[in-house]
Amino acid sequence: MAARLDPTPAEVEQITPLQALDRQRSGALLIDVREDDERAGGMAEGAIGIARARLGQRIAELAPRRDQPLLTICGTGQRSLLAANTLRQLGYAHVASVGGGFRLWQADGLPVASGAFDTDAGDRYSRHLLLPEVGAAGQIKLGNARVALIGAGGLGSPAALYLAAAGVGTLTLVDDDKVEKSNLQRQVLHADARIGMLKTESAAISLSGLNPRVRIETRNERLRAGNVESLIRGHGVVIDGADNFPTRYLLDAASRQLRIPLVYGAVHRFTGQVSVFDPRRPDSPCYRCLFPEPPAAEDAPNCAQAGVLGVLPGIVGLLQASEAIKLILGIGNPLVGRLLCFDALAATFRELRLPRDPQCPGCGSDAVFGGYEDVQQICAS
Ligand SMILES: [Zn+2]
Repeated sequence: MAARLDPTPAEVEQITPLQALDRQRSGALLIDVREDDERAGGMAEGAIGIARARLGQRIAELAPRRDQPLLTICGTGQRSLLAANTLRQLGYAHVASVGGGFRLWQADGLPVASGAFDTDAGDRYSRHLLLPEVGAAGQIKLGNARVALIGAGGLGSPAALYLAAAGVGTLTLVDDDKVEKSNLQRQVLHADARIGMLKTESAAISLSGLNPRVRIETRNERLRAGNVESLIRGHGVVIDGADNFPTRYLLDAASRQLRIPLVYGAVHRFTGQVSVFDPRRPDSPCYRCLFPEPPAAEDAPNCAQAGVLGVLPGIVGLLQASEAIKLILGIGNPLVGRLLCFDALAATFRELRLPRDPQCPGCGSDAVFGGYEDVQQICAS
């Protein structure tokens, strides 16, 4: 028979929901100790759901440091007192229980999430929750985010895998190709057994397997003048994983029209480059500040059947994913106005200043938007 843990009021601090919200915002972890079905009806925003009976076995993972401030909440404030006492006995020094529980939290009109942090999310994202720069509030931002990936190939593969793992709520995959054997040297979203399958379908299998919480929307279409806006509208960030110039120019124009940040990445043989074009910022360049007009066919790398070191798009695609996550969270210093170049053979990163060009045909003061244009890419044979 388990010993009953009677909390001594002198040992467990009780605070009001408003005080809890304050402490939560300064880094305390708020743990909802009700059962899963009770929490399904909603929780305090940013709270992590762990049923009281499982608290002992899960808390060490969530809060490895005993000086991490912890708050407990339940329905009315009884079970959270017991849970807080358990945490104190486990050695946590700063524990408080929310008096009045979730009922009072709601009555006070404090922010409520619709069961976003159940046990699964608390476990899955525990390493994010430990970072003050991400935390529960950031994880909720990631969960509400929609990212469009143009291309489920070399750049899109690593980007999509890590964005899904990070808990980005919705990923829209735009690609009309099928998986080919020659893709598998770098396009790690796909698998040998799925050669011949649509890339969007193959990608959805991998991504859902990695994180079933993420919603995967597939658009089995080629991006064109007629659909570019509808494909990226409603997304917070667009990842450019395109392998051809016509798509890049269309994406650039649509991201400027819709004011959606575009995370650019490109690879060629042993080198790659990354930048962020953020049309919401007046100081941000656009893609055409870098490449004003499409290159001549013989200079277009994708026409020349150029080879690429397999790991290179992995590195560049992950830099793109990292920039996308920073944009969603609003943390750090994005690659706006900077072109980051990576040389795999030399193992060097070089950063070039990329200021906005006042004469740019895309975003310059004299630029006129004349609609989207399908640029024919003619490759020299
Ligand atoms: Zn520009």
